[in-house]
Amino acid sequence: MVTFPSATPYLHLMTNIFLSVAVTFLLSNSCHALAQSGKGKPFVKRGPWFEDGLQFDCTGCGKCCKVDGDVWLAPEETETIMTHLGYDQSNNNDESYIEEFRKKYIRAEVTNGNQSESWVCLKRKEGACIFLDDAGQCSIYDVRPVQCNTYPFWPSIVQNRGAWEQESVLPDNVIEEGTQARYWSPELGGCEGIRTNKSGVGNVGISLIAKEEIELKKKAAKKHWKRFPVDEIKQTTWFL
Ligand code: SF4
Ligand code: SF4
Repeated sequence: MVTFPSATPYLHLMTNIFLSVAVTFLLSNSCHALAQSGKGKPFVKRGPWFEDGLQFDCTGCGKCCKVDGDVWLAPEETETIMTHLGYDQSNNNDESYIEEFRKKYIRAEVTNGNQSESWVCLKRKEGACIFLDDAGQCSIYDVRPVQCNTYPFWPSIVQNRGAWEQESVLPDNVIEEGTQARYWSPELGGCEGIRTNKSGVGNVGISLIAKEEIELKKKAAKKHWKRFPVDEIKQTTWFL
């Protein structure tokens, strides 16, 4: 009697061939994918170095208002601050209020002849911004300039961890021995609200600023400086 070979060993053979082809295919494709990602590592999209946020709480120390630097206002910022201070800009025939504001608060101006398009630099008084009050607080806090509102999340400061840590200083009343931690100085500046986790001093309870908020401030500061008339500044007449 002629018998056909049992179906079972035949099926086993076919299954083994199929599995072997499938494994070879998968292996060759995964190797291809790894090769494509470069250096044999799968491609992983990375966020900014502050992906997990940054520890920062403004202590209101006012040190950023005392640093030896300039605060420049874009034209619309001057208008907002004038309105906040009660200068009536609706009376276009009376320029005395503009002159009063300029004499009191402005020390330099970049203008094309049209004052409403001027960039102006704030005056300083006793080593601080003219708007820093006797209590060491910003007297125009609600309408403070972009330059101030976005600090310390400027592109130059949040560009990397080193720059961020370099901007931080210890509060004046904190004594920490045996560290390289910096204290604030009028020339070098620094922000005591930045916590780097380096020293651990005062880190407990400090707010974590989310990546999204940092990005927003960084972007606003970048946009501001992009508009800044750098070349014209060199030819500016400084009032004081
Ligand atoms: S405008 Fe206000 S926040 Fe800005 S430097 Fe002057 S006092 Fe400080
Ligand atoms: S230096 Fe920092 S902590 Fe102090 S007022 Fe300025 S932003 Fe706030």
